[in-house]
Amino acid sequence: MEFPDQIARKAKIRETMGLIKNKFLVLSGKGGVGKSTVAVHLAVALSNRGFLTGLLDIDLHGPSIPKMMGLSGQKVTVEKGLLKPLTFNEKLKIISMASILDDQETAVIWRGPRKGGAIRQLLGDVHWGPLDFLIIDAPPGTGDESLSIAQLVPGVRAIVVTTPQQVAIEDVRRSLQFLNKVSLDIVGVIENMSGLICPHCREEIDLFKKGGGEALAREWGVPFLGRIPLDPNLVLEADSGRPYFEGHEDSAVVLALNRIVDEILKKQA
Ligand code: ADP
Repeated sequence: MEFPDQIARKAKIRETMGLIKNKFLVLSGKGGVGKSTVAVHLAVALSNRGFLTGLLDIDLHGPSIPKMMGLSGQKVTVEKGLLKPLTFNEKLKIISMASILDDQETAVIWRGPRKGGAIRQLLGDVHWGPLDFLIIDAPPGTGDESLSIAQLVPGVRAIVVTTPQQVAIEDVRRSLQFLNKVSLDIVGVIENMSGLICPHCREEIDLFKKGGGEALAREWGVPFLGRIPLDPNLVLEADSGRPYFEGHEDSAVVLALNRIVDEILKKQA
């Protein structure tokens, strides 16, 4: 049985999400594969192409997106009972728990009903307005956050990020099994850290075996969206809060991201 306030909450989420054409949940089997990095760069790339885009960082335990985008310290405000997202550029808005709580509170231990309440609030009580794309960055694995999104966000579809060496490990398969179980459509698989761009000669080195992401996608019968190389310069930029676009237009990473965005645009609603 559902209580009236739960029904009202769900209706609010449907109303907020109903204004958004494409909703993508970015997930990975394990941490450290570059899931948040990919989420940030997809959102920036889509906004650079003129699409109204939102980026929702739903990682309650370790929200990292504001830092990657040079927005740490900025706080979300509340207007007419709704959270007003931070602005990265005129087409891209961001919501993260890191921009809602203060630094001490961010370490808060989220449990049971409190966690569920926070997730529902992040899904329903945000003034995004109409958007072309919402990119949702979920914590790694198949925890409460991803499950809530699958159950509460109508029409959401998944993008799975993996690295070549992760493919051999069970975690990424568990994510795909989870997506099947909750009947979430999969937009496709992205293989990140696929080959290394040498910082000296800019040639690509086949560091970990490439192509595992593509083979995995084939095995599961889902689209392969493309591979992004490992570029040490990207880490430096990310640590300084700058997404890797300006000044790097011809880099292998940006070219790869643009090809992936082309693939995603073919699959837009
Ligand atoms: P996750 O969200 O999966 O835990 P992150 O996005 O936080 O992973 O990335 C982990 C680290 O790897 C970060 O330091 C990030 O800058 C770096 N990273 C991610 N993708 C790349 C890449 N293609 N090239 C170089 N560094 C990367």
